[in-house]
Amino acid sequence: MKDKSFDNILGKIFKWSVDDNDCWNVTSHYKEKQGYHRVMYKTKQTRAHRLSYLLTKGDIKKGFVVMHLCDNRSYINPNHLKAGTKKDNTQDMIKKNRQSDRSDRKGKMSKLNRQQVIDIYLSCKSSYQLSKKYNVTDVQIRRIRSGSRCSSITNLYKNHKKRKKIVNK
Ligand SMILES: [Zn+2]
Repeated sequence: MKDKSFDNILGKIFKWSVDDNDCWNVTSHYKEKQGYHRVMYKTKQTRAHRLSYLLTKGDIKKGFVVMHLCDNRSYINPNHLKAGTKKDNTQDMIKKNRQSDRSDRKGKMSKLNRQQVIDIYLSCKSSYQLSKKYNVTDVQIRRIRSGSRCSSITNLYKNHKKRKKIVNK
């Protein structure tokens, strides 16, 4: 769903790329180790998704955190953000299995070599097909494709991918 007003508000501060899930992946700001983008706003330092929520949906109540419905910390599409308590967030995290995924990520990722990561990133096949082919989870495939995983490798191919998309249209 495209929302022009959100575009306008956030476009003054951020640049982002939009992926297949309509997630907005920030490209204009520094990404912290934990996956959040750091941003300065009115002399205060905050995180991109928090600021996105604040500017488009309003105040964040005390004690509330801004959660990602799509489970990607670097994304700022306001339609994918929701405010909740810390407890909500923890339960949400468990539900999405983010924690266990992280612990198995190392093992499973290391199975992929550089060339495979590039192939996955540029492939036109579905995440499901690729996950079968390389024997990793489709979440991991999607993370590689969205640039939230292995971006040190895939960043070099960004332009290639864009061109490919245009050619495919
Ligand atoms: Zn999203």
